[in-house]
Amino acid sequence: MKLDINKLFAAADRTVMLDYDEGVGLERADIVSTIGPAHACLKVSGTENGILIEGSIEQKLLVQCYRCLKPFEYALKAEVDEDISFSDDDDNILSGDKKYIDMGEVLRSSIYLSLPMRFECSENCEGLDIEREIEDEEDESDCHGVDPRFAVLKRYFEKD
Ligand SMILES: [Zn+2]
Repeated sequence: MKLDINKLFAAADRTVMLDYDEGVGLERADIVSTIGPAHACLKVSGTENGILIEGSIEQKLLVQCYRCLKPFEYALKAEVDEDISFSDDDDNILSGDKKYIDMGEVLRSSIYLSLPMRFECSENCEGLDIEREIEDEEDESDCHGVDPRFAVLKRYFEKD
């Protein structure tokens, strides 16, 4: 969504309240996908020399656990407290010759800032299954498998 800066400054108290959904694309190796759009609840205010954006954003994500590598759902809540200055030339949030605020960019950057360093599916995550699977196979051969060296002996006794 693009928010018209002229309309913002023409609004009462130079303030606009936003409560809306917007789809944002997120790219990080351990983010499988976003689940639905981001939900933003924000107060956008014009200040002396810029814009202040405050509020919160919620986004559901499908992410990969860094221990067991299994995907799981993660509900992210990002707090927003963004002070944008008009004199900031390299700010990509103000677009179209500073006529608009690129709200999608605000949402995206706030979400990135709130992401944890890595995702863990649970505190009790036991990591990769590989080791346990090997143990399981060994258990099975103990219970049901017959050592080939004794297979002949077994047949011998069966004949008797
Ligand atoms: Zn895990």
